Amino acid sequence: MRSFTYPSNCHTHCYLDDGQESLESYAVKAISLGFTSLGYSCHTPLNSQPDEWRMQAEDFSIYIDEVTRLKNVYCSKIEIYAGLEMDYLDDSGLLAGMEYAEFLDFSIASVHGMYHKPSGTYLTIDGPVEEFETLLRDNFSGDIRKMVSCYFDLQKSLIRNHTFDVLAHCDLIKKRNINNRFFNQNDAWYRDLSLSMLDEAEKAGTRIEVNTGGLSRGATSEVYPNKLMLKKCAELGIPMVLSADAHNPEHLDFYFTEALEEMKNAGCRNIQYLAAGKWDRFHTSFDSD
Ligand SMILES: [Zn+2]
Ligand SMILES: [Zn+2]
Repeated sequence: MRSFTYPSNCHTHCYLDDGQESLESYAVKAISLGFTSLGYSCHTPLNSQPDEWRMQAEDFSIYIDEVTRLKNVYCSKIEIYAGLEMDYLDDSGLLAGMEYAEFLDFSIASVHGMYHKPSGTYLTIDGPVEEFETLLRDNFSGDIRKMVSCYFDLQKSLIRNHTFDVLAHCDLIKKRNINNRFFNQNDAWYRDLSLSMLDEAEKAGTRIEVNTGGLSRGATSEVYPNKLMLKKCAELGIPMVLSADAHNPEHLDFYFTEALEEMKNAGCRNIQYLAAGKWDRFHTSFDSD
């Protein structure tokens, strides 16, 4: 039996990007789970590089119209919010998706890729491992420390230069590191890079998510961020949001009970969720432990 639940997910994909199923199927599932709020966060369209995993620019109005319709249809049962998962572009320093801000209730900011000069495109760090390897070879001469350092630096620049609601999966660089293929998270150099990024987040008042999406899709053996980073977030009092990064309605609360327990064990007290149009404190049953 659940001792406590977190009644919300703000990180939700659907058929318009690399998720599955209709937007409505997520609302129906969220209501059945007893959620009080649900936020949609399609991958932002990028005209310069319309990758398949992104929503296409011509679909943005369909997306917003459907979220608006669902807000009205289900207003007595659940709060629904329109968001985007935006992408930080390291060559221009822009946060792609900000141009849609006037239509949105919230924004999630992510670093999914790096600019690859030889091809003139962005390659992902969390997509096909060949893209990761190409970046490692061509951008960093095969030096994984340089690549990891660049990844965390990109997040620091994102934090310093942009305003957004939630920083997504802040150690996504580990996604393709199965069996420590490229690095060991316990190594001192990795620890230092990952933890110093959190110092920057604390200074800027950044909200950070605990994301169970790597686990639900079988890509990782732990949530983002790792235990050490989570502990540091707790020590710094960084506001935390729990998210499923759901690409299927069945994953809307995937590993939520366990993740909340991990947050509790790490010492997180400032856990937030979307309620009544703002980021509100989620009062857990362990607040008074
Ligand atoms: Zn993402
Ligand atoms: Zn996502």
